[in-house]
Amino acid sequence: MKNICENCGECCLETEMILSQQDIDLIVKSYPNKIKKQDIAFKNKNEQFQLKNIDGHCVFLNYSAKKCKIYEFRPQGCRFYPLIYDINKKKCLLDDDCPRKEQFYNTKQSLKITCSNLKRFLEQQFTLKID
Ligand code: SF4
Ligand code: SF4
Repeated sequence: MKNICENCGECCLETEMILSQQDIDLIVKSYPNKIKKQDIAFKNKNEQFQLKNIDGHCVFLNYSAKKCKIYEFRPQGCRFYPLIYDINKKKCLLDDDCPRKEQFYNTKQSLKITCSNLKRFLEQQFTLKID
């Protein structure tokens, strides 16, 4: 099956993806070259770790190939994307910034299951209170 994300990489431009401690540990442990936490992440105004950008894109995007250099051990939030959780609306949404968002979920059921997983992930890793 063709990867929906092939030759896209839009969500990796000016990324604001937050990282759990588990995400950071996995990347540092798995990256083939020596890499430090401060090379890949910084603390944002909400005191959460966030992926760094270089030249307008995520530090891990191979810009010319439009490929993630850490695809096998990319952060959980990148795995869930384009599904995001809107705290104000209190629901999962497919992010409008993804030009192919309609291609991701064939059934309401699959969307519902992934939404539950996303909420559990946010509660466990970021101690967010989600109703
Ligand atoms: S999730 Fe959407 S924006 Fe990101 S690479 Fe895939 S198709 Fe593109
Ligand atoms: S880690 Fe990979 S998938 Fe996530 S924003 Fe960076 S390049 Fe994109």
